[in-house]
Amino acid sequence: MHEMGIVSGILDASIGAAERSGAIRITEVSVTIGELTEIVDDALHFAFDALTPGTLAEGATLTVTRVGARSRCGDCGTEYEHGRFDVSCPACGGYAVQLLQGRELSIDGVEIDLPEDGTDPIAQTSDASQE
Ligand SMILES: [Zn+2]
Repeated sequence: MHEMGIVSGILDASIGAAERSGAIRITEVSVTIGELTEIVDDALHFAFDALTPGTLAEGATLTVTRVGARSRCGDCGTEYEHGRFDVSCPACGGYAVQLLQGRELSIDGVEIDLPEDGTDPIAQTSDASQE
């Protein structure tokens, strides 16, 4: 399944960032997905639930924001939103269009929990070397 690889990549990036921040848990991962991608929300959530157990993101919420397709007409310069199969310019009917938006797949944010006492587990383990 296509979405497994996508979610795996999202999780790698999210967990890496959370670990660098000293997080003990990821509570929410927010992503933006363009309408023109082949990604299906249900499959994305299924993959997320399948891949997160045993990681920092176990039990986290995956929030998906969809953005519509948007193009600029190469003939008349009109910018307009459109569906997957009706890309022609509504003003002049031209097909020489430049896609501005609709193929994105990005991580908007990762919500994390930090240790309550504020101690950094990495700093603790390195104490032994301070002689
Ligand atoms: Zn046009």
